[in-house]
Amino acid sequence: MTMTLGRVAIALVALAPSIAPAHAAQPGAMVIRKASFGHVEVAATAVETALREGRAAQAAARDVLLLPHVRFGITARSHGKARWVSIASNGSPIYSWAFENTAPGGRPVPPSHALRHEIGHDLFIRHLVPSSREGQYGGDAPDWLDEMAAIAFEGTDVTAMRRREAARLARSGSLIPMDRFLTMVHPELTESPASAVASDGPAYRIRLAASSDTPRFYAMTRAFYDYLVARTGSPAVVAKLADAFRRGERLDAWVLARSGQRNGSASLGALDADLRSWIQSDARYAVATGSPNGG
Ligand SMILES: [Zn+2]
Repeated sequence: MTMTLGRVAIALVALAPSIAPAHAAQPGAMVIRKASFGHVEVAATAVETALREGRAAQAAARDVLLLPHVRFGITARSHGKARWVSIASNGSPIYSWAFENTAPGGRPVPPSHALRHEIGHDLFIRHLVPSSREGQYGGDAPDWLDEMAAIAFEGTDVTAMRRREAARLARSGSLIPMDRFLTMVHPELTESPASAVASDGPAYRIRLAASSDTPRFYAMTRAFYDYLVARTGSPAVVAKLADAFRRGERLDAWVLARSGQRNGSASLGALDADLRSWIQSDARYAVATGSPNGG
């Protein structure tokens, strides 16, 4: 008798997920949808957004990280309890996201900005260059390469914003010099974390620009990525840099060898000059409407 009741209870529990979509109109009800990258489990109002962001991250994983078969889930984060990443029984990461996210001050954080970016960080560390030490921004790779992986996942709006910023910095001669950029600690890691973490929790790593260097660091990373894609002919330059790092190669030498600095006098100073002139020549960095003061 007890055994029979037990089976009924298990059967009901097992049915629950497949019942959920029928209650999609109810506020707070979760909808489960299969997707080419895995699945989403979010409120009905967030399904299209979650599917779109997941597909974009899947495409970036294939093109930028050379991970064509990566699988993951996207779920709604419930009341600040869930971790950002959990691992499903099949070993795939499940990303827990607050789709009604706001930064401190109530400013909304569009998923196209932050969710893809954070998935890029996670996949890079999970599959290409993991972290073996505490207290670093990302994995064992230099912070600029960790950040480049994530920035290469971003959507068109935020990409256009970063390019405008890079073009402005290039015009005013205030891009971060390459010798500093390639060795610097991520500016957000050097600042007090308490003021930098968004109100909805550190697990999300959505931060305010606590350091004045942060916008420059992101803009420089975007420009350097676009430049390397142009010089190597491949968006997968991030995966190739990760390969070189794992082989123990010097990444500055790797970059110099592929940036048209052919002779022995190749230097980071020459690379700076080449990056600046490339930015000036690339149509995506030609800002039609500069700031009134010329930036
Ligand atoms: Zn990042």
